[in-house]
Amino acid sequence: MMRRFSGDRLVVATHNKGKMEEISALLAPFSVTVIGAGALGLAEPAETETTFAGNARIKAHFAAKASGLPALADDSGITIDALDGAPGVYTADWAETGNGRDFVMAMTRVWSELEARHAPYPRSAQFRCTLVMAWPDGHDEVFEGMMAGQVVWPMRGDQGHGYDPIFQPDGFDVTFGEMDRWEKNRISHRADAFRKLVAGCFA
Ligand code: IMP
Repeated sequence: MMRRFSGDRLVVATHNKGKMEEISALLAPFSVTVIGAGALGLAEPAETETTFAGNARIKAHFAAKASGLPALADDSGITIDALDGAPGVYTADWAETGNGRDFVMAMTRVWSELEARHAPYPRSAQFRCTLVMAWPDGHDEVFEGMMAGQVVWPMRGDQGHGYDPIFQPDGFDVTFGEMDRWEKNRISHRADAFRKLVAGCFA
């Protein structure tokens, strides 16, 4: 049996303002007060697991224990079949320069590694998002969202963020970077995970 959210306050285990706004908007219909981990002065735990669910669980449980409230965390990234699932949980790390993130560098690395392996076409890949709801007593519920597509080159579009310019979702001839933001938010891996979260814990 899935545990439903019952209180009136929920901690969102992120220090990212964009994620906070997106999650607040999605939960607006459920009359829940959404509190950011930053506003509570919570630390950011190290993401030491090797799966999206593992890292989302670390963040959600840490915030739930520290706050005494139910907490929601997400972890996301891109998995590329011909690279054996890389960059996966290291999606953000591939962009790290020591002086901020450089996603053109990260996307160039993706393409170089595919070329080095003479990967066949289409170069199938998945954007993945895992959401974890955790309670202070240690219980959790895990929801996995996915959008399948292929890695394309050169980069196209400037609408999105991260790896959007090299990801063309199945059924479309534009990349996430060329897609209208609202359309992307409707079909994305994050939307998929959120629909499952709402059906499981809120609806
Ligand atoms: P995290 O979930 O904040 O740890 O970071 C996930 C990484 O995956 C970030 O570097 C993002 O750029 C990338 N990522 C996740 N979702 C998307 C997306 O929808 N478009 C482009 N990049 C994404």
